[in-house]
Amino acid sequence: MTPDFVIVGAGFFGCVCAERLASAGHNILILEKRNHIGGNCWSELDPDTGIEVHKYGSHIFHTPNQKVMNYLSRFTSLNEYRHTVWTTFKNQVYSLPINLGTINSYYGLNLKPFEVEIFLEKERGKERYDNPQNLEEQAIALIGRPLYEAFIRGYTIKQWGKDPKELAAEIITRLPVRNNYNNRYFNDTFEGIPIDGYGALFHKLLQHPNIQVQLNTDWFHVRDQVYGNAPVIYTGPIDQFFDYKHGRLEWRSIHFERQLHEVADYQGCSVMNYADPQIPYTRIHEFKHYHPERLKSEKTVIYKEYSKIVSETTEPYYPVNTPRNARLLNVYKQESADLKNIWFGGRLGDYCYYDMDDTVEAALILVDKLL
Ligand code: FAD
Ligand code: UDP
Repeated sequence: MTPDFVIVGAGFFGCVCAERLASAGHNILILEKRNHIGGNCWSELDPDTGIEVHKYGSHIFHTPNQKVMNYLSRFTSLNEYRHTVWTTFKNQVYSLPINLGTINSYYGLNLKPFEVEIFLEKERGKERYDNPQNLEEQAIALIGRPLYEAFIRGYTIKQWGKDPKELAAEIITRLPVRNNYNNRYFNDTFEGIPIDGYGALFHKLLQHPNIQVQLNTDWFHVRDQVYGNAPVIYTGPIDQFFDYKHGRLEWRSIHFERQLHEVADYQGCSVMNYADPQIPYTRIHEFKHYHPERLKSEKTVIYKEYSKIVSETTEPYYPVNTPRNARLLNVYKQESADLKNIWFGGRLGDYCYYDMDDTVEAALILVDKLL
């Protein structure tokens, strides 16, 4: 039977589109080139420890968006996890995002909250950027050079493989700066990890009898053979869709080194960042902390995260926000807008640094438009 819609990619974008369209009575075929659903948010049980690991790196659900929360609540509840991150610089551990604890420990001070702004203003005054043009200028405009050099510069170079002067200012505005000891990483109303894991959430999203999923199937290998004229929702890389004819958009990829440790707790938190440029990895994830409600094992599993450029054999993870990539994206976007019967979406299709809630919201909006 010819499906009513073909969806390329079983990540959050594809799965939400599939669930909504199937519930409205349409027959859906999802093609996914990997051997599992869930895209980069996939989680599964580690075979040696039974700990739920996030195969493509830590994923913490957080959103201020009631509509997205209402929708997802039909498929999962969230546990009580609240994300905190720490960072190691020169063998000392500091709070992240940069807060009063970070500032006092770094400078050896005992500032009070009402003194922080005056202190930072003095630091910024030493090198002023009133209209920051790139990530480095933006960071110095927020926190001054010494904190930037310690906690941002080395990490950013490792993560993006570029000098922070080449990167867009907005990348760093994801990180708040606080004048108190609050070390929650996110400010959102809703936060947590799906209680039965992301894997279970995606299985529920795709449970509808109108949805058929074909794994291990790359759309580019089958697009000319089948599926008639069914409309397509494409969530793969936008430049690949056009066979890179205007050039390749740059992506950052990630490589994980898994280690098993015979201790109950390896690092005391789920994510420890490493700010020193000499340490080759950017952070270490210890997944057992994401489910404080589950039984503890006496072993633990950690993933060391290394950032690298995308090659033929690596997966694209992060769009690289530079002026060159923004211009190229615009060219592909204009071309895609002229096509009939095909819609682009998700972080690869839009070449956008979407969080999960943004992705779900964008999928709900697209389906509203289609229906
Ligand atoms: P994806 O999850 O990438 O799914 C796209 C799918 O399409 C993939 O499964 C891919 O295999 C498939 N595909 C591509 N091309 C083809 C093809 N030709 N044929 C068939 N299938 C194809 N967000 C948060 O809210 N909180 C977090 O803590 C968080 N942490 C993150 C950490 C990392 C390291 C990264 C990279 C992202 C993080 N995100 C986080 C963002 C989150 O991963 C994305 O919002 C989400 O994955 C977007 O879903 P998607 O469906 O657009 O893309
Ligand atoms: N960043 C940094 N030091 C850190 C953490 C983050 O310099 O210890 C910068 C880095 O440039 C990164 C950006 O802040 O790309 C956003 O960080 P976030 O933790 O939001 O990135 P993600 O979790 O999406 O990788």
